[in-house]
Parts: sequence; C-alpha cells; structure tokens
Amino acid sequence: MIRKLLLVAIALGACAFVIIKSLELPAPLNHVSDDFMLPAVTVINPGEAVRKNHTLVVRDGKIVRFAAFDLEFRRDKNTTIYRNMFVLPGLIDAHSHLPPDNPLKLTSYFLLLNLAHGVTTIREAGDVDGTAVAVAKRGMASGAFPGPRLLACGPLVGGEPAVWANTQIMNSAADAMRVAKEIKAQGFDCIKSYDHLSQEEINALKNAANAVQLPVMGHVPESLRYEEAVIPDTQHLFGVPLPENLVPGDRISRSANWDEVDDARMAEIVAATKRFNIINTPTLVSTFGLLGFRNYEAMQTDHKVKLLPRVYRDVVWSPDIGLPAYRGITKQHLIKLERAFEKKKQLVKRLYDAKARLQIGTDTQLAFVVPGHSMHQEMELFHRSGIPLDEVWRIATVKNAQGIGRPELGRVYEGGPADLLIFEKDPTQDIKALETLVAVVAQGKLYPIQELEEAVERHRLHYHGWVADLVSVAAGRILVWKAVTSTN
Ligand SMILES: [Zn+2]
Repeated sequence: MIRKLLLVAIALGACAFVIIKSLELPAPLNHVSDDFMLPAVTVINPGEAVRKNHTLVVRDGKIVRFAAFDLEFRRDKNTTIYRNMFVLPGLIDAHSHLPPDNPLKLTSYFLLLNLAHGVTTIREAGDVDGTAVAVAKRGMASGAFPGPRLLACGPLVGGEPAVWANTQIMNSAADAMRVAKEIKAQGFDCIKSYDHLSQEEINALKNAANAVQLPVMGHVPESLRYEEAVIPDTQHLFGVPLPENLVPGDRISRSANWDEVDDARMAEIVAATKRFNIINTPTLVSTFGLLGFRNYEAMQTDHKVKLLPRVYRDVVWSPDIGLPAYRGITKQHLIKLERAFEKKKQLVKRLYDAKARLQIGTDTQLAFVVPGHSMHQEMELFHRSGIPLDEVWRIATVKNAQGIGRPELGRVYEGGPADLLIFEKDPTQDIKALETLVAVVAQGKLYPIQELEEAVERHRLHYHGWVADLVSVAAGRILVWKAVTSTN
C-alpha cells in the first residue's frame, strides 16, 4: 500500500515537474556589446542631410562620438561587419499596449517582439487591468529581460460605466484634478482620456493635466464630435463620423461607420485640427487588422499572427468569445470597414498635406495587430496613403519623439541616447528594406538580428508547447471575461 502511494506521489511529482518546466520561460536575450564603434556607416536622420562615411562610438547608453570617419578609427576592428551600412534612429510606437501580468507571462515576449522589429520606444496607451506596466518596468530595471524604452499612461480616465477594470472614474469635472494628481504621483507619463466623458469633463481633465504637466491623449467619446472633444492627441480618428451615425454600444461601428464622412466633413476635420493644433495617431493598422475578419481562417495561419500564442487567435480576438470590440462582427460591418479604411487613408493624406501633426502608432493586441511587426505595417499604410517614405520615417522617429514629450529621442547625434537601427539597405528609399535590418541598438546595447530572431523563435516555440498552449487558452478565457467589466 505504502509502496503504491509512493509510486503515485512520484508520478504526480513528475507530472508537476513537467508542467512547471514547460511553463518556464525560455532564456532571455543577451546583448553582445554596450561599448562599441560603428565605423564608416551612412547615418540618416530622417528629414535632415544624409551623412555618409561617418563613425559612431557608443558607450554607457550614449552616442559619445559622431564624426566623419578618419584614420584614428581604422585601428578598431570591433564592429566592422556593419561598415557601409545605414544607421537610423530607433522606431517609436506612439500607441502600444502591453499584456496583463498573468500565468502566461507574455511581458518579456512583447518587449522582445518590439526590439526585434526595431521599435526602441513604446508609449503604453492604457493598462487595461493595471498589471502590465509595473511588471514590464520592474523586469527591465532588474535586468531580467531587455526591452524598448517605456512611457505609459497607466489607467484609463473615463465616465461610468467603466469599459476596463483599470479605469479612473470621473463623475464630474470636479474630479479632474484629483485624477490627474494621482496619475502623476504614480509616475506615469501621459493621461489617457477615454470613453463616456462629457465635453466639460474633458476640458477639466486637460486643464488638470496641464497643471501637473502631463500630456493628454485618447478617444473622442461616442457622444461627441472630433471638434467638440478636442483631445490634444486624438487616437484612431474617432469623432470623425458624427455621433448620430454610430450605433450606441456597437464598438465596431465606431471604426466602420464612415459612410457619411464626405469631402466637406474631411475639410472640417482638417480645419479643426489646424485650429486646435490637434495631433492625430490614426492607428490605420488597427482598422486593417479588423479587416482580417474577412478571412478569419486564413489569418489564423499568417506567420506574423502566429508569432503570438494561440490564445489571441482563438480566444481574445474570437468573434464569439473574445473582447467586445470583435464580438458579433458581421459581413455588413466588414463592408463598411473596407470603405472606412479607404477614407481614413485619404484623411491621413489630407492632414499631411495641410501640415497637421501626425503620429505613427499601432494599438497592439487589437485583432491581428502583432507587436513590432504592426509598426512596419503602419509605416507602410502611411506610405500607401501617399506620404513620401522619408517623411513616414520622420514621423516614426523624430516627430513621434516630440509628440510623446521625449524630444531627445528619435534622432542620431553626439551626446544623444543610443537607440539605433542598422540596415543593409536604405529603408527610406524602399519600404521593403525594413527587412534588411541587421542589428538593433537599444539604450546603448547592441543586439544582432540573428540573436533577436533566435530569442523570438525560442519564445514562439515555448508558447506553442502543448502545456503552455492548453494553460494559456484556458486562462485566456477567464481573463477576457474578468478584464471586461462591461460588455457594451
Ligand atoms: Zn489602444
């Protein structure tokens, strides 16, 4: 009897060991150097003169020397493999989301996917359950895993009913100062103005944010027009369709119901944008992602989509059991979305032509919007809207840096932070050259692309192992249900 019990105990122990082992994260990525020279490279600061045959010396996270290549540099054989390549500033994603901290432990993988696609700074545009940002900050600060620079808005600020668990509720304009002070005290970098706020409450929030010196970005609430809400950094082109053309509670209609947006409405938007100096972060790729539902089956096998664990494809983005944003998406929605998508690109071009301020952001984790890769897609969509490629690069680097309040980023200069991308071909001449990325320098640490890709592959395999897969799908169902405090 005792022997039997012992055998059972051993068998159970072995099972537990296997499960724990299979849930253990793969080895993190290591940088190869943080003190190096890039001799005889072509440095491109988008929008500025191209500097050929220059040399960069990086040390302690900074560019300590940036000068024309000369004899003195020739002695160093350190990083000659990058000779004659193209060096650009790292990409900045102005609208990203990190995954909640849960048994899946996706934080380090999301950060890695950003780095592997050349994204060296992200602005976290709302931590929906309040667990994502702290874990990312802690992990990176302790050196447990690397990642891009992280700016974060923290909680969403909205009216009742809260859409997400981590919402700072404003019941009246009088709440604005308390909310702004709390967000500031928690060390966040921006205020995310969200749904169900009135014009008066938004105004109060902007004044309070101004007093605590935090920028405001966010959604135009469903009940307001773009030019009524005047969100300083408006996301997703919300508010362009008039409120009466949306279907209350139908999240997809907000992205899709653009049929009444005509020439005159676009002209009004451009004029209001100029008048109020509004920045727009259109996140075209999030609409493009929704269009993926035209062929949900095929998207399941897309190799970039498959970088993420199955829980995204089968649970989070499921039209049946996923987040409310995709639940019940219909053929009619998709037909409207197609037309809306074309109009959004037109509006982006009109805003660009009017010299209005634009930003490149992705809204990662929305349907089929994969961290890192989606940044390349958004750049391509800007380009396809009719914006010259070097201008797209300028927006994704220097303009985004200014827009998110970190003007020291997004440029390559002596004394500046070392966030650099090294390409074999000039990606400002051909969008396809984004695929010739050979190394990423993030906060002065050099990661060759092979190391990045191998680390991505280790993580991909980990999340597709059967134990991690089963656990994640089960946990995902519970978490989607929990994260959503209101399904309307
Ligand atoms: Zn978002």
